[in-house]
Amino acid sequence: MSDVTIQTVTGPIDADDLGRTLAHEHIVVGWPGWDSDSLHREPARNDVIAIARDRIAEMRSHGVRSMIDPCPNDLGRDVELLAEVAADTGFQIVCATGLYKEDQGGSAYWKFRAQMGGSADYIAEMYIRELTDGVGDTGIRPGIIKVATSGPTIGNYETMLLEAAAIASIETGVPILTHTDEGRLGDEQQRILTGHGVPAQRIVVGHCCGTSDHAYHMGIVDGGSYVGFDRFGLDILKPDEQRVEALAKIVSKGAAAQLLVSHDTVWCWKGNAVPSEAAEAMVANWTPTHFFERIVPQLLDAGVSEEQISLIVDENPRRFFTGEAIPR
Ligand SMILES: [Zn+2]
Repeated sequence: MSDVTIQTVTGPIDADDLGRTLAHEHIVVGWPGWDSDSLHREPARNDVIAIARDRIAEMRSHGVRSMIDPCPNDLGRDVELLAEVAADTGFQIVCATGLYKEDQGGSAYWKFRAQMGGSADYIAEMYIRELTDGVGDTGIRPGIIKVATSGPTIGNYETMLLEAAAIASIETGVPILTHTDEGRLGDEQQRILTGHGVPAQRIVVGHCCGTSDHAYHMGIVDGGSYVGFDRFGLDILKPDEQRVEALAKIVSKGAAAQLLVSHDTVWCWKGNAVPSEAAEAMVANWTPTHFFERIVPQLLDAGVSEEQISLIVDENPRRFFTGEAIPR
């Protein structure tokens, strides 16, 4: 028994019960503005639940017991739907509190709100409220804080979000998961968050597999944070073979304990964002079991051991949530 609990959408669990975990998958996403598309509506709840049931059964066949769905507040997050799926399947789902990057998030509202004062402190207060009391009046508590940046540099808006995430993380002890564009600025996120006092091992810099820049990866590793290789199957953004090669290189430097993996799949979209058949064909491998079915054999070929792969999917997520020191 560990004495650390992790908040899932159906309540706290002992960290030791987390088990094999995918660090970044989405049951449902809605781009800000989706609800202004009056020709389309939210997918029916029962349909979402049926799809989730199938996906989760497939994940379970590979031993997966938990996943993080780090949908931020402004991307159509629906924690009650997540809780329904978790209750229906018995699968462990961790949801997030947080706001998305400036160019694709709900920044219009938050910029308007900031004109009336508050900004980072006000947003942090909201995060802390969600983390301690639950989202709205649902009683559902997020287990992770999401932040996101776009680039080419981190401007005032995203700096405010990083600061708010840092305040909330320090206050509650809940770790931070980030989005980066094309594996860029993760080192800068790490600098800003740790600069505000967040311990480096409480941060996973997401989408690091968007680049093969080994020095960038090792900079984040040496800074003491986790590196997210969480877009396997998105060959449309970058070929998986480059992700495999970059991951194997990090492992060869003795840093397997600092990797988290996932696919960033989206199972249902709000509004009319369902990909066309042609687009669907381009992301044929973009499923939440792709890592186990097709990437693991490639990693073994690239010199990563079974033990190292187990460390990445079975042990690193638990240690990330507990905040324990990372073995090097
Ligand atoms: Zn995502």
